[in-house]
Amino acid sequence: MPRLSQEKINEIRQSVDIVEVIGNYLPLERKGRNYIALCPFHNDSHPSMSVSPEKQIFMCFVCHHGGNVFTFLQEYLKISYLEAVKMVAQMGNVDLGDFTFYEEKKPVNKKTEPFYLMHEEANRIYKHYLSTKLALEAKNYLTQRELSQDIIDHFEIGYAPDQNILLSAFEKSGFTKMQAYASGLVIESQVGYDRYHDRIMFPLHNSEGRVVGFSGRIYRSSQKEAKYMNSPESSIFIKGDTLYNYHRVKESVRDAGKIIVLEGFMDVIALYKAGIKNAVAIMGTALTSNHLRMLKRLSNDVVLCLDGDQAGKNAMMKCIDAMALAGFNIGVVVIPDQMDPDEFLKAKGKDELNALFKNPQSAIDFKMSYHYERINVENYEDRKKYLESMVEMIATLDDLVDRDYYIEQLVKKSGFSKEIIYQLLSQKPHEKQPIPFQPITYDQSTKMIDKYQKAERNLLYYMMQNKSYAMQYEAKAGYMYDKINRLIASYIIDYYRQYVVLEIADLISMIDDDEIVKRILEISSQHLPKETSNQAIDDYIKIIQEKMEVERIKQLESEMAQTYDPRQQAKILQEIINSKEKE
Ligand SMILES: [Zn+2]
Repeated sequence: MPRLSQEKINEIRQSVDIVEVIGNYLPLERKGRNYIALCPFHNDSHPSMSVSPEKQIFMCFVCHHGGNVFTFLQEYLKISYLEAVKMVAQMGNVDLGDFTFYEEKKPVNKKTEPFYLMHEEANRIYKHYLSTKLALEAKNYLTQRELSQDIIDHFEIGYAPDQNILLSAFEKSGFTKMQAYASGLVIESQVGYDRYHDRIMFPLHNSEGRVVGFSGRIYRSSQKEAKYMNSPESSIFIKGDTLYNYHRVKESVRDAGKIIVLEGFMDVIALYKAGIKNAVAIMGTALTSNHLRMLKRLSNDVVLCLDGDQAGKNAMMKCIDAMALAGFNIGVVVIPDQMDPDEFLKAKGKDELNALFKNPQSAIDFKMSYHYERINVENYEDRKKYLESMVEMIATLDDLVDRDYYIEQLVKKSGFSKEIIYQLLSQKPHEKQPIPFQPITYDQSTKMIDKYQKAERNLLYYMMQNKSYAMQYEAKAGYMYDKINRLIASYIIDYYRQYVVLEIADLISMIDDDEIVKRILEISSQHLPKETSNQAIDDYIKIIQEKMEVERIKQLESEMAQTYDPRQQAKILQEIINSKEKE
C-alpha cells in the first residue's frame, strides 16, 4: 500500500486555510495583514500569536511556538503528525484513496506503564463488582442519589467489595508484589490489603483519559470512616495536574464556548444530570498554574462555582485573581443557601440549575458582595474602607458602561454619593491601559546578531521568496557559515528542484528538526522589503564570503601557533598574506 508522498501532504495542507482552522479553536482578531490571538502554548495575557493567511503559518512572538496547520493541530490537540494530516484531509475533503497511515505509537514509559495498567485493571474489576450481589446496597444508594445506569456507565462508577481482591488479580496479570504495592492500590501487609473496602468507586483520569487514581465514597450511615478517600499522589497521579472529567469535555466546551470549574466530582455529576456537560472539578486542592494551562487549552472563558460556604468563597477569591492574571474571562456562580449543585438540583430542578449557570455574575460583582459581607454597615470607617477599595477596583475597568453600572452598585451598597465616587475615581490614574500589540520581531529582540548572521538570514529570506535568488546563491556561494542557516539553504535548494514557488508552510512540513523550523519561521517573519535586486543578493554573498575568509585566517593563525617547523610556518604565513590581500 502506498504511503503518503510529500505532494499529497502539500495538497492536503493547501486544501484548508490555516486562519479558518485555528479560528475553530481560538478567537482570532484581524491585525493588518495577519490575525492575532492569545497564544494557547504559554500563559498569554495579551495576544502574542500571529497567524499569517499569506504564508499559512502561525507563530508566537513570546514562546516561539510556530508552524503550519499540521503543527498547530498536533500541539493544540496533542495528537500525532499523521492524525493531524488525516484531520486536515477530512476538513479539506481530500480523498486519501488507499493511502495508509502508519501510526507512530507513543513510546511506552516502562516505569509508569505498569501503574496505568494496574489502574485500568482495578477500574474494570470495580465496575464488574457493582453489578454483583455484593453491591446491592451500594446500588440502592446510587439509585437513591438518582445516579442512573447512564451516569454509572458514563462516569465508570464501580464498587470495591469488602475483600482483598486486587493483589491476586494483579499477580495473575503478571505484575509483581512490589509493583502492586507501589501502585498505591494495595497496601503492603501479609495478605496484600486492598486500599479500598466497601466503597463506591469513582475513577480519576489524566488529561489523556487514562485512569490514574480513584475516589472511594462510603454509602452507609453505619460506616464511620472518612466520607471520601482519594488515591495518594504518585508518579501518575498528581492532584495539581488533574481536573476531574477534563478528558471528556473537549467537545462540549467547544459547543458551549466556556468551561465550568467546580469543587468536586459529585458536582460535575450533578451538572451532568441536568444536561450540563462542560464542567470539570479540581480534586480537593488549590487551583494550580498547571490547571490554568489545561483550562486555557480548552477555553478562554471560565465559569467558577465552588462551595457556597466561607471557605469556598475565600477559595473563589483566590481563583478569580489567578484566573484574571492568566487572562481568562471569568463568570461566577454562587449557589443560594450554601447548597451544593446536587442539593440545589434536588430542591429546585434542572431548569433552575441551568438558569444559574447560564447567567453567572461577573467577577467584580462577586468581589463587591464578598467584601460587603465582611463589613459592618453600621460602622462609618468600615463603609469608608469598603468604598475606597471598591473604587480602586472600578478604576481598572476600561468599559464606561461597566464603570457606570458598578458605581451605581457601589452607591447602593456603601451609602456614599455618586459624586464622591466620581471624585475619588478622577484622582485615580486609569491603571489598566490596554497593552498595544507589539510583536517582538527577530530584529528588535536580538540586536546582538552580527552582520554575517544578518546577511545569511536576509539572503535566506529572499531565497524563500524567489527561486532565482536561490540559484544565484548556489552558483556563487553554496555555503553559509552558520550550520543551521546552511541546512536551511540546502532545504530551500532541494525544494526548488521540484517546485517553482516556495510555500513556507510546505517547506517546514518536510523538516523534522524543531530548531531548524523555528529558525525558518524567524527568518520568514523578518520585516524586509518585499523586493530586492541581484546586486543586493550579491552583496549578501560577498559578506558571507568575507566571513569565510576571516574564519580561514583564524584557522591558519591557530595552525601556525601550533607548528614549530619554520618552513611550514613560512608557508602558512604566505597563505595568510594572500588571503588578506584579497579582502
Ligand atoms: Zn506563546
